[in-house]
Amino acid sequence: MKKKKTISAAPHVLQALPYAQSALAPVISANTIGFHYGKHHKGYVENLNKLAAGTKFAGLTLEEIISATAGKADKAAIFNNASQAWNHAFCWRSLTPKGGGEPPAALKLKIRAAFGTVKGCKMELATAATTQFGSGWAWLALDGGKLKVVKTGNADSPLTRGMKPLLTIDVWEHAYYPDYQNRRADYVDAVLEKLINWDFAAGNLG
Ligand code: MN
Repeated sequence: MKKKKTISAAPHVLQALPYAQSALAPVISANTIGFHYGKHHKGYVENLNKLAAGTKFAGLTLEEIISATAGKADKAAIFNNASQAWNHAFCWRSLTPKGGGEPPAALKLKIRAAFGTVKGCKMELATAATTQFGSGWAWLALDGGKLKVVKTGNADSPLTRGMKPLLTIDVWEHAYYPDYQNRRADYVDAVLEKLINWDFAAGNLG
């Protein structure tokens, strides 16, 4: 797995998926990825470029825009689109066709320190993912040196809380409704068992 790269400055580009649109099936269908990546993620990037053009935000990285606009009611539109562009680029790499299984040793040590077992960590992630009311995200993140499971609503992420995201699961309905309808818990369990990319998370420990 490649190390995380710096996400490019504006005009922001829709980065290629790290696998084919059909590669996550049957857990997530090619149809769902096609809409999720090709319509939703693409739309956030395009809206961000429109909103940033000709403003002081043009030329800034996603992270810089997120930091400059978080929590500011009059900047909500640009924050939402920048944060969703960041979250989606991150969420594709949080999944892999040969995911699940055991985390690499360095990550496992930190998981044991924070949650007791890998199973305990997955249970916390599943609880965060299924109890996030409405649209949002479940995250494994570093807060200082300690691992935490965090849930965020809508476009928000641990970046706005000074934490370092390690991996995420998208629990917006667009992520699972075509395949699972209202069964969010089944989607989350399948992602954690079969797609979650522990190597990517370990690489983000830094
Ligand atoms: Mn999404």
